Amino acid sequence: MINVALAVLAHPDDAEFLCAGTLVRLQQEHGWVIHVATMTPGDCGSAEHTPDEIARIRRAEGHAAALAIGATYHCLEERDLRVIYSERPLERVVRLFNRVRPAIVFTHSPDDYHLDHEQTSKIVRAAAFAAPINNFLHGPGHFEADKPLDHIPHVYYCDPLEGKDSFGQPIQPTFRIDITSAIEAKSRMLECHESQRAWLRKHHGVDNLVDSMKDWSATQGKAGGVPFAEGFRQHLGHSYPQDNVVGILLGKLDKYNLLNEV
Ligand SMILES: [Zn+2]
Repeated sequence: MINVALAVLAHPDDAEFLCAGTLVRLQQEHGWVIHVATMTPGDCGSAEHTPDEIARIRRAEGHAAALAIGATYHCLEERDLRVIYSERPLERVVRLFNRVRPAIVFTHSPDDYHLDHEQTSKIVRAAAFAAPINNFLHGPGHFEADKPLDHIPHVYYCDPLEGKDSFGQPIQPTFRIDITSAIEAKSRMLECHESQRAWLRKHHGVDNLVDSMKDWSATQGKAGGVPFAEGFRQHLGHSYPQDNVVGILLGKLDKYNLLNEV
């Protein structure tokens, strides 16, 4: 059986910032097939280009970043600042799940600085629940090429940007993954998002996308006692898978969780 991990984040470059190191390790150490999806093509991420122009540029950057690690990129074609938990994006994500059949899904923290991220988190959580339900897309009057999933995939929430919610309160990951061996591959993926380096300098005041990613990965690494790490929380609500398959495959850094699971 082929194991598949899928990241569904809001914008091109989010996965490369938040969970790419873990994706690289799943692929390199365990042969997992990796897919990266974004809800939008990043159509508002420019002060110079029209929405269509920048969308075209950023879809190409998303493809290039995924290709840098032999992964596949998908754009779900919602629009920046208009990602809303509603029927259309939910059905699009369920169709993507049924097509690529992920065992593990990564998405945004439910609390985050950006509402597109929070809505994506809701959509992915709901899609994971809906994807195995036959009547959701496969009832009378529907024709679907891909059958429902066999079961709900494992769902993991990435860190919010800067590790805080919209009140500035810290959001602690429940476990961290050592990505030191994957930091160069993660950087190479992020470097593919050339348009964003210029945009972030102008709009957010962030001077270098790759440096900020490395700084954040180093912050989580320090908390875990390694050079670079990524932090996650697993969705553990009723009926979602309860075993931490990412932690089991890649090893967790946090003593707190190790003690809890003994
Ligand atoms: Zn984003």
